Amino acid sequence: MKPVVPYIKATQDRVVLEIQRGCIRGCRFCQAGMIYRPTRERDVEVLKEYARAMLNGTGHEEISLSSLSSSDYSKLEELVNFLITEFQDKAINISLPSLRIDAFSLDVMSKVQDIRKSSLTFAPEAGSQRMRNVINKGLTEEDILTGAGQAFEGGWTKVKLYFILGLPTETEEDMKEIARLSDRVARRYYEIPKDKRNGKCQITASSSFFVPKPFTPFQWAAMCTAEEYVHRAAVVKHEFMQQLNRKSLKYNWHEADETVLEGVFARGDRRTSKVIEEAYRLGCLYDSWTESFHNELWLQAFENTGINPDFYTLRPRSLDELFPWDFIDIGVSKQFLKREWERAMKGEVTPNCRQQCSGCGAAAFGGGVCYEDKNEI
Ligand code: SF4
Repeated sequence: MKPVVPYIKATQDRVVLEIQRGCIRGCRFCQAGMIYRPTRERDVEVLKEYARAMLNGTGHEEISLSSLSSSDYSKLEELVNFLITEFQDKAINISLPSLRIDAFSLDVMSKVQDIRKSSLTFAPEAGSQRMRNVINKGLTEEDILTGAGQAFEGGWTKVKLYFILGLPTETEEDMKEIARLSDRVARRYYEIPKDKRNGKCQITASSSFFVPKPFTPFQWAAMCTAEEYVHRAAVVKHEFMQQLNRKSLKYNWHEADETVLEGVFARGDRRTSKVIEEAYRLGCLYDSWTESFHNELWLQAFENTGINPDFYTLRPRSLDELFPWDFIDIGVSKQFLKREWERAMKGEVTPNCRQQCSGCGAAAFGGGVCYEDKNEI
């Protein structure tokens, strides 16, 4: 285990240890959660050995545990305790992205982070329970407020909340609930007696705009126009201004034009390659850097190639449409995705892979969570 170390400073200047692949949860917008099925955990003893060898072999001062949902790794406690005892006095930083916020995670984080400086991240993805059921987030408002309350009592004052705007079936109420939920999180902070608080709290809510992805139950969904996305963000922003704790709340949102482009290429077919080539000829390069993103050049490229972006973004797909990616077998069947899309439209929640198998098709690979005993959690 001797990863190559560049002799210039890299952005990801740390050991990355993948603890499991896949996710048991089944959020309906998430491509990674579908294409990496089934969830496969790595053996904890192997991980300990890798951690030791990679830190010694690279000289990195930070180790990050990577996975789509670290809290679902069944030996997380053992692994984290090992890392803390083994490496913390050697000034090795331990970072744990993608944790669910609960008592155990907060305890771990308080051991590995400076509480005053760090902020906690929650990803409720949607403001209302109705919307969270549509996306199969499996997170109740009580989970969010309890987690936030425990975090505040543990000394954290900064919380980041991530949301997606423009999800299928979203109503104005759902949009406004983003602001109201953020306010309820802030209220939870001010329930702590004044002498026990650490000044003001800072809740930063961010929303990205929904982009339907291939191989997900939402691959049939239509997107909104850039104008509609901006309008929805304005509805949320306005609702934030009405909240009691607005001084403790911040709201920002992602670029709508970039989202629409992402939407075109996420579900594009071979014709869209002409647009990319034309955009390049017109001067588009390094588009994910805001300063070098020129939407007008992209619009020109669509016009020059006679391709209508709305065909890829605004059109709801019928259930029998053949998709450009249908010839790729990811293990998860199209019938399962369809079933999930229909359940989403009815707001029905599907249990996670540890509670009950939903027969997605990935068991055909012969391993992972599909062969664990169910109803363990
Ligand atoms: S086959 Fe069942 S347990 Fe396995 S990934 Fe699919 S839904 Fe989950």
